[in-house]
Formats: sequence, C-alpha cells, structure tokens
Amino acid sequence: MAVEEGDLVEPGGKVRLFVEQPIAAGTPVTLDDGQAHYLRHVMRARAGTAVQIFNGRDGEWRAVLALSSRRGAAATPQRQTRPQGASGDLWLCFAPVKKAASEFVAQKATELGVSELRPIVTRRTIVSRVNVDRMLANAIEAAEQSDRLDVPACQAPLPLMAMLGAWPSNRALIFCDEGGAPPMLEALKALPPGPAAILSGPEGGFDPEERAAIRALPQCVPVSLGPRILRADTAALAALAVFQAIRGA
Ligand code: SAM
Repeated sequence: MAVEEGDLVEPGGKVRLFVEQPIAAGTPVTLDDGQAHYLRHVMRARAGTAVQIFNGRDGEWRAVLALSSRRGAAATPQRQTRPQGASGDLWLCFAPVKKAASEFVAQKATELGVSELRPIVTRRTIVSRVNVDRMLANAIEAAEQSDRLDVPACQAPLPLMAMLGAWPSNRALIFCDEGGAPPMLEALKALPPGPAAILSGPEGGFDPEERAAIRALPQCVPVSLGPRILRADTAALAALAVFQAIRGA
C-alpha cells in the first residue's frame, strides 16, 4: 500500500535518512539518487510524506518529501525531533576480514556505538583491498536503522606499526588477546573513563613481534574474551558488546 500524505513512512519501521547537508527549518535538503529511488520505488512514498532526516550535526528532524522531477527528491525540515547531544568516543581497530564479514562488522559496530572504524593491516592480514566507501555505506545504513544521530568515521587502512607509532597518549587501547589476559569485564571496571579503542586481530592472529609491540604500548589494556578462540569478526563484536554493557557507549 502506498504511503499517504503526512504519514511517517512506516510499513515495518519509520524511514530515517542520513544527509550530508546542513538541516534548518524550511530549507529543502536534496536527497541523493539512491534515497530518491528507495522512497519512490521501495517505500512508494508520495509528495507530502513525512520522513526523518539527520546529518550527525543538527539532530534529527521531521521533514516532508517533495518529489520534484521524474527522479529527484528533496525533504523540507519542519521541526527538530531530537537534539544532537554528545556522541560516544570508541574506535574499533580491526584487521579486515573477507568482504561479507567486514561489511557485517561495519554494520554491527555502528549499531554497537563505535565512533570510528579503523581497518588495520597486519602481517597475517589476508585481505589486500578494503573498500572504504562500501564500509561507509554499511555504516550509514546501520545508523539509519538503529536510531543513531551520527555515522562513524571510516578511515583508510593503516599498517599496524604505523598505527601504534601515532597512538594518542590519552586513548586506551583495549587489546583483544587470546594468548592470556584478564577477563575484559574486570579490565574495563578498572579502566578510568576516557577515550578508548578496541583492537582485534586477523584470522591468523597477531604474530609474536606484533603482539609484543602492542603490549609494549603504555596505553595498552590486554583483555580476554573467554576460553575459546573466537573468529576475528566475532571477537570484535563481542568486545564491543562487553564495552557497551559496562560503559553504555
Ligand atoms: N591466534 C589464533 C590464530 O592463530 O589463528 C586466532 C586468532 S582469532 C581468529 C582473531 C582475533 O580475535 C585475535 O587476534 C584476537 O584479537 C581475537 N580473539 C579471538 N578469540 C579471543 C579471545 N578468546 N580473547 C581475546 N581475543 C580473542
């Protein structure tokens, strides 16, 4: 059934769209071709339909659709429905895994509150190319559906040693280390509040030299995720879930 004028588009959930432009009452925001196609042909929305838009800076707004030409669409903000508020500050540094698993990590990490996705290249990383645009597209989709008001920053891949060399002095590096470390729950309870990052390794794990370099960093907090060896994607997401449970990120 087509969505009627004035309705929030919601067969199965309201439509929230991430936009790049500033949002201000009465100033139309142009939607991109993918969004216009989705609204017209998937949601069968009509001119006058209400949607929600956000850009990571101006909060969330109720906006009304205008379908101007055969393909174009715009949304005119009416009123703010949520203010922006402060975002969490948690990076996920992860060795990229195969395409589907990396996309899954980008989506789920966004749902779990990560503020920055940082692919890292280690000696045993087997994926040679990371599609940062695709990672961002997955993060945007997850932010739209999870009611987030922002989208995590998606960085280009960085070699592990370069990342360690430039590590910020005030950011804890929570190192998922299956080779013997205190349980993550205990380690987090002892960690003072402040910026943090979770680091998880590739399918083959970190090699001994890499592991020693990570552990030598003064900001390193080694943690165990339990007695079993988790797959790389499982480990990253399990660590984020524990962090969120303790810190509410
Ligand atoms: N060392 C193994 C190997 O050589 O294949 C396993 C690596 S595991 C598949 C990938 C990454 O997940 C590890 O580098 C680590 O960061 C994380 N990980 C897996 N299980 C873990 C656990 N029980 N505790 C902490 N981290 C874990």
